[in-house]
Formats: sequence, structure tokens, C-alpha cells
Amino acid sequence: MTTHTERPGMFGPYGGSYIPETLAPSVATLIEAYAAIKDDASFWAELAGLQASFIGRPTALTHAKRLTAHCGGAQIYLKREDLAHTGAHKINNALGQGLLAKRMGKTRIIAETGAGQHGVATAAVCALLGMECVVYMGVDDIERQKPNVFRMRLMGADVRGVTSGSRTLKDAINEAMRDWVSNPDSYYLLGSALGPHPYPTMVRDFQSIIGCEAHYQIIAAAGRLPDLIIACVGGGSNSIGMFHSFLEYPGIKMRGVEAGGRSITLGNHAARFEGGSKGVLQGSYTYILQNSDGQISSTHSISAGLDYAAIGPEHAMLHDQGRVTYVSIDDEQALEGFQLLSKLEGIIPALESAHAIADALRIAPTMTPDQVILVNLSGRGDKDIFSVAGVLGVDL
Ligand SMILES: *Cc1c(COP(=O)(O)O)cnc(C)c1O
Repeated sequence: MTTHTERPGMFGPYGGSYIPETLAPSVATLIEAYAAIKDDASFWAELAGLQASFIGRPTALTHAKRLTAHCGGAQIYLKREDLAHTGAHKINNALGQGLLAKRMGKTRIIAETGAGQHGVATAAVCALLGMECVVYMGVDDIERQKPNVFRMRLMGADVRGVTSGSRTLKDAINEAMRDWVSNPDSYYLLGSALGPHPYPTMVRDFQSIIGCEAHYQIIAAAGRLPDLIIACVGGGSNSIGMFHSFLEYPGIKMRGVEAGGRSITLGNHAARFEGGSKGVLQGSYTYILQNSDGQISSTHSISAGLDYAAIGPEHAMLHDQGRVTYVSIDDEQALEGFQLLSKLEGIIPALESAHAIADALRIAPTMTPDQVILVNLSGRGDKDIFSVAGVLGVDL
């Protein structure tokens, strides 16, 4: 596997491990444990078995013919992570880390969740592997995401409301880290390619199954590699999982799509590369949204999964290298993508994924019909129908 890391945990100047001293022994143990399984063929064989039997991998690759015709340009193919068990790519990472925790002899898992997608994936994996599951979630998110809270509890998770700070994802991560400090025997299962080393590398490795499958699937379906790959970027896990297998091909262009929200003024979006600057948040040096005093800014996106103030450190490096182009799509454009894909292809995308679709809609017409765009459809939109209906003025 190619690695773009010069020193462990560093992506150029980004990443690293900015953690309180009380967490250092737990993180060091995790680094060792991950290094041990990385070259352990029996681990990856067990994971591959569960990827097939539990997640339903490989997920399909779909040629979006009517969307392609609508745009009148490049052929658009969709990698269908919406078809993965629990409805998004999050399960790839939750299963990988869950299995690692099991190998480490852990019996209690701690996780954070924003919209609830990572919490649901973690709860499912804990039920599968017979482990105790504690999920921290901001009380505002608990209120907004009731169906996912109920799903987690059905699968046996102990969902704990977090009342500090903005009572959303950032505060849930703080609380999960606090739990880990007091319970070093527990395993902290972080949900995106973020946080201190080894998480950004480990989460990328577990998500790289997306790009590995798409690599052979696109050759089989289109007879060639794609010209362009598009994925939405919250913390950055579905995108880095898709990009990773293709980074070695300089001819393949890549676009990461951030949430443009209501407008590109601080507090109204989550486009770290447009409105952010360099700094440390929750263990990692990267681009973050902050004010001139270094206070973490509030963020907004119609899609809860893209609504976070920091971006994974590998993306910071790829941005500075110019290898990946980062753009933003606003709430309104995402809503159009959401509706258009539903109508033309019979696929209701997650609002996060709809950002990638919306970017494909504006770029496909500038390309030719012999060219190929690969879009990562990170999740399904069933979780979003209530909020979309609300915005469209439909009373469910
Ligand atoms: C969580 C989530 C995202 C954003 O997270 P990444 O780590 O950037 O992938 C995107 N799409 C869906 C469906 C999600 O649930």
C-alpha cells in the first residue's frame, strides 16, 4: 500500500498527536495494537469475511444513465455506499476498529456521534461482536435525530446526552475523550479520519475498501479508469477511503466537496479550506474554522454529517499539494442534487452525498461523453426525509 506519510501520524506538517498527558498511554497502546494487526493476515481475512456477510460488500457500482443524459457530458458512475448495512460508509470503519478492539481484549466501546450515523454503525458492530457500547451525543443532536437515537438503543447502546458547549458533535468528542481518560481499559472508536495519530491513518485504511472495490468495478463497467473522482468531505473518511487507491494515478483528478451552508461567512458553513485557517482541534493540526482569537467557530450545514469545524489532516496535505481540489456546495444546491438523483435514478442520497452529486451536476456538462466521473455516494437519504420535507414545506 502506498503511504503519503513521511513520519508516523504526520501528513506533511499536518496531523500529529496533540493530546493531554493522561491520554498518552492509551493512545500509545492503540498505536502498537494497530501496528501489530496491520501485517496480520488473519485479521484482514476475518474482516473481509464480515465485510461480505455483515456489511454486504462489495457494494454496487451504478452507471447513472439518466443523470448522465440530463447533464449532457461525462458518464457518471456512483459507488453505492448507501447500500452498506446501516446505510452509509461509517460501518466500514466501525467494523474494522471493533474487530481491533476485540483482538485487544476490550469489552467496552466508547464512541461519539453527531447526526447519529456513526453511533448507529458502532452500536450494530457492538451487538455483532457482543461488546458494551456507550455513545456520547450532544443533547441538541439527540433532539434533532430521534430515529437514530432509537435505533442505537434498540441495538443495545447506552446513548448519553452531552450538555456542555454547543451540545453537538465537538462536545460529544470531548466527552468521549474524557470517558477514555477515566476508563483506559475501554476502546475509543472514533468515527472519521480525524483526531490524534493513529486514527487518521487507521480510519483511512479501513475506509480504503471503497476505492479498492471501485477501482476494479469502474474498469469492468467503463473499460477504463475515471477522469475525475468526487466525494463529500466532513471529517474526511468516505473521501479519503475513495481517493486513496487512485492517488498514484496523476491523470485522475479529484474533488472534495465541503458544506457551503447558507453562505461563506464564518458560522454559516463548514468549508474549512474556504473560510478556515491552520490550528489544532481535538488532537490534530489541520485546517479549522476559528475566529481571529482562535475560538472554534460554530458551523452550519443542511447535512449534519458535514457540519464540523475541522478537516482530516491528510486532506490538509492533499489540499496544499494541489493533488485534490476542494470546493463547496451550498444547502440549496445540495437540496437540488438530493431531489434530482431521487427523481432520475430512484436513489435517495444522504444530504451529505447530495453535495457530491451537486458538484457532479455542475462539472459533468463541461466534460465530454467519452469521459468518466466516479462519485462516492456515501450514504442513503432515508434519515433526511423529515428535514428535507420541512424545508420543502411538506408536512409529514
Ligand atoms: C458521516 C457522513 C459523512 C461525512 O463524514 P466523512 O468522514 O467526511 O465521510 C458523509 N456522508 C454520510 C452519509 C455520513 O454519514
